[in-house]
Amino acid sequence: MASLPVLNVSDAQIPVHKKPPVAAEELAHRTLLEKPDWRRIPAYKDVTDEQFMDHNWQAKKSITRPDKLLETLAGIASPEFIKDATEGFSRAPMSVRVSPYLMSLIDWNNPEDDPLRIQFIPIASRMLPDHPKLGLDSLHEQEDAPVPGLTHRYADKALFLPLDTCPVYCRFCTRSYAVGNDTELVDKVHLRVDVERWAKAFQYISERPELEDIVVSGGDAYQLRPEQLRFIGETLVRMDNIRRIRIATKGPAVMPQKILTDHDWLDAVTWVVELGRKLHKEVVLHTHFNHPNEVTGITRDAMLRLFERGITVRNQSVMIRNVNDSRDTMKLLVRRLGHIHVHPYYVYVHDMVKGAEELRTTVQTAIDIEKYVRGSTAGFNTPTFVVDAPGGGGKRVCHSYEYYNRTTGVSVYKAPSVKPGQPFLYFDPVNQLPEEGQRRWADPKEHEAMVEEALQAVR
Ligand SMILES: *Cc1c(COP(=O)(O)O)cnc(C)c1O
Ligand code: SF4
Repeated sequence: MASLPVLNVSDAQIPVHKKPPVAAEELAHRTLLEKPDWRRIPAYKDVTDEQFMDHNWQAKKSITRPDKLLETLAGIASPEFIKDATEGFSRAPMSVRVSPYLMSLIDWNNPEDDPLRIQFIPIASRMLPDHPKLGLDSLHEQEDAPVPGLTHRYADKALFLPLDTCPVYCRFCTRSYAVGNDTELVDKVHLRVDVERWAKAFQYISERPELEDIVVSGGDAYQLRPEQLRFIGETLVRMDNIRRIRIATKGPAVMPQKILTDHDWLDAVTWVVELGRKLHKEVVLHTHFNHPNEVTGITRDAMLRLFERGITVRNQSVMIRNVNDSRDTMKLLVRRLGHIHVHPYYVYVHDMVKGAEELRTTVQTAIDIEKYVRGSTAGFNTPTFVVDAPGGGGKRVCHSYEYYNRTTGVSVYKAPSVKPGQPFLYFDPVNQLPEEGQRRWADPKEHEAMVEEALQAVR
């Protein structure tokens, strides 16, 4: 064997560092808050570490009534904020559920602008009137449902909603037509755990040979009991036509403790994943982080636990105004998720849901942020930015519009493989439009004209 030439280091004039040294903020995604300081909230001041890490304690102490929430806030939030939230709750069409973990991640010195507060606790002073073109079930999930709680819109995949409860209730939820309890403003379609309803869904799935892919969502799989998870998982992976299932849960973002301390639940997920693997079926978890603050040391430990068990986790975010609609926040989120082995999969332009107008952004915002995020990390960790336009066309890549008028905020998408020939319209929030657009939306006589202009342009 020829010996290697000896490199004389002192003589070497090879410039090795062609890139300038990295700025500290480029590594910020690696620095996590290990644990929130829950003891600064008076209601949790005597809570031990063991309690805080226990999923049962987190679930039991989750706040599900506005008056309880306001009670917990006394002493940490200002009276003005509490009044604002009281009014917010009476006007919001969503149910409430906030875990102590979330409560302790919120900055109570400035709750108005806190990215977690914005997502889960409505305040009246920030609310905006709904867009004139908005309806409940904006995605027409119910119209595409052959049996209650099963939406079959796309060719080879379907969405199964086994239940209608979640470990948290998000103000921006697309499924506010179903999830949570009836509120002062909305009577919901109920999708309770019901084995007969499930049986009808399974029968439909098994009779449609084109279905290969089932999204088990909700509601939220965190709320399923381990035996229910095993039953649903096993039934689906044993169907000949099914190749892939995804189990969707927001849980890791709002209560990562469960993955670390609910051994039965984690073992049930692992069991389904392993059974699937034996049968050559892919079973993965889909989760839902929206802001870098949602990733703590507890989250990292939970995600690494899943990684050790060979469980793939993908993330779907919603773009939310003042939460993650800035380039740097989105980049930080994407990198932070990659760092804990969660693959960013989608970022949704906020759906047109009631009572959440101030959370929506324009399509242009998504396009701009996509451009900035792409190239900042691995391609497979770079999410696709999509619009799920009302009417059931399904997800479209945000910059694939047929038409987009930035003054009226009307965009038109087509979905040739989902509903050929049909146009799907999305409407930017009125108060983010230029003055001319705002003026036209203020005049009801102009509404149809703006829609007609858009449709005319794509004919
Ligand atoms: C999002 C969604 C799916 C899954 O779509 P992917 O693009 O494969 O993630 C399936 N069915 C419905 C109704 C959906 O909304
Ligand atoms: S966890 Fe998901 S389904 Fe439940 S309220 Fe939030 S967005 Fe909706």
